[in-house]
Amino acid sequence: MGGYFSDLFSGTKSLLDGMLVTIKEFPRKPVTVNYPHESLKMYPRFRGHIELIGDEEGNANCIVCGMCQRACPSGCITLSGEKPEGSKKKVLTSYILDFTTCSLCGSCVESCNFDAVQFSNEYNLASTRKEDFIFDLLKRLEEQNT
Ligand code: SF4
Ligand code: SF4
Repeated sequence: MGGYFSDLFSGTKSLLDGMLVTIKEFPRKPVTVNYPHESLKMYPRFRGHIELIGDEEGNANCIVCGMCQRACPSGCITLSGEKPEGSKKKVLTSYILDFTTCSLCGSCVESCNFDAVQFSNEYNLASTRKEDFIFDLLKRLEEQNT
């Protein structure tokens, strides 16, 4: 009989403890988000895959010096450019990132002296196809500005 009352007492106590926690937490702002319908804002130091930086008109800041390509230890960057007729400067025509081998080391970003490449805030990447991680960063920049 003593065991019955002690079980009843501890069960009731545990129930009240649980309810107390629920009541205390109920008015607090949730720390979770309704993923995938909502996304978290990434911290400034977050490293997503690299992306190109453009000027106010959306043109890439890149001057096609090739430093980032040479600095990449994994050979993930393939870029090319051309000189339009009458111009002394090269214009970027293609910038492809193979994200499947990128280690997010940052050498490309550090090697660029023209504020032309940075880490993106992109963290929502998922696919079973390798081809989905070959990024055309020039196209991406153009799409961001349309
Ligand atoms: S280092 Fe900068 S400017 Fe040079 S090719 Fe790379 S992104 Fe362009
Ligand atoms: S972060 Fe490192 S591995 Fe990735 S593209 Fe840049 S240099 Fe290459």
